[in-house]
Amino acid sequence: MIASTVCIITWFAGLVAWYIIRYPFERGAKKVGIRKSLFGWRESGLLALAFVGLWVVPLIYALTGFPSPLDHQLIPAIAVLGVVILCGALLLFFRSHADLGRNWSISLQIRNDHRLVTTGIYRRIRHPMYSSFFLLAIAQLMLLPNWFAGAAGLIGIGLLYAFRVGQEEQMMVERFGAEYRDYMAHTWRLIPSFRAS
Ligand code: SAH
Repeated sequence: MIASTVCIITWFAGLVAWYIIRYPFERGAKKVGIRKSLFGWRESGLLALAFVGLWVVPLIYALTGFPSPLDHQLIPAIAVLGVVILCGALLLFFRSHADLGRNWSISLQIRNDHRLVTTGIYRRIRHPMYSSFFLLAIAQLMLLPNWFAGAAGLIGIGLLYAFRVGQEEQMMVERFGAEYRDYMAHTWRLIPSFRAS
């Protein structure tokens, strides 16, 4: 019981740390003009699903215990691994933001003076921020002792990724052409690649 409470609190502490990392980049992004935006109902819906999976479902679970029939026992070694993965996710999330700088946007957008970033963490992974989201969702599954509240983040992030990444790459190809195609040939989407570049 106490272990479960500690794990649930750790999960929310991770979410707060996640927002503290994002906040300065969110503020900075407001200062940069947008040349092209794919923001619309589809993007809003996908972002909302991810938010519900990571924040809202765990919060309802933490406050009400719903859905209690899906509770399960925490395995201490898995919970500890969950904390390690959570820290890794936050580190990767910070690194991606730092390397992407002013080219980042919450939705799919091309900024004025948008630069293609292929250095730092982007040298090895094409979508490190999405990798960090998946790590975050895996940590959620390991830390919350309830199958539904645990898996909700993975469902939300999985849908966001599945319906977004193709559109994002198409947008980048339209903007950067051969430069982005070449970048795609040397990197994988979520897993680090050490192919020569
Ligand atoms: N998919 C990336 C970035 C997510 S933020 C990741 O997971 O790390 C989304 C915005 O980042 C998109 O609007 C796109 O314009 C921008 N973007 C994605 N990859 C980029 C890159 N390599 N260089 C510059 N901008 C990029």
